[in-house]
Amino acid sequence: MTDLKGLIRTIPDYPKPGIQFRDVTTLLGDAQGFKAAIAQMAEPFRTRPVDAVAGIEARGFILGGAIADRLGCGFIPIRKKGKLPWKTIGQEYSLEYGVDVIEMHEDACREGERILIVDDLIATGGTAEAATKLIRRSGGVIVGATFIIDLPALGGVDRLTALGVTSHALLAFDGH
Ligand code: AMP
Repeated sequence: MTDLKGLIRTIPDYPKPGIQFRDVTTLLGDAQGFKAAIAQMAEPFRTRPVDAVAGIEARGFILGGAIADRLGCGFIPIRKKGKLPWKTIGQEYSLEYGVDVIEMHEDACREGERILIVDDLIATGGTAEAATKLIRRSGGVIVGATFIIDLPALGGVDRLTALGVTSHALLAFDGH
């Protein structure tokens, strides 16, 4: 078994004091680690119909593309404001200080399509909640959300559960 947790680099006080940044680039750079992470993230959804993976910029693109290929489904990019070339719908979410917006193409998800949300890490769940709202506004049905890392102290999984979204994470780190 590949030690996925051991392949993640922790960078203290990045991007600001008090944050332990969980850097997955070291895992992505390891051929076995990357392959194992993709397989495990996709596993619970292999036997369920999924029309598209919605990957959250930027690390959710790397993981989401590979998971979509594995599940044999499409890929929808969810991006920071102003990055997508076609008409978009946007969703605000709260940061520690202020608000941010993520966007999706207005025609990316059709009514009734079954969508799997993918990102590298869930912390407060604010980003994944905004993605959930965007997809639901388009008529999409969330099949679940899959992450490498959960930070349970920040309550993101509970926040998604309250929205009726089931989360799957490969490993957890204590604290923030
Ligand atoms: P949140 O919206 O609070 O769940 O934050 C999740 C998003 O922020 C994901 O896209 C993560 O990549 C990033 N993120 C939040 N906290 C961390 C952390 N401690 N280490 C690495 N990425 C993080």
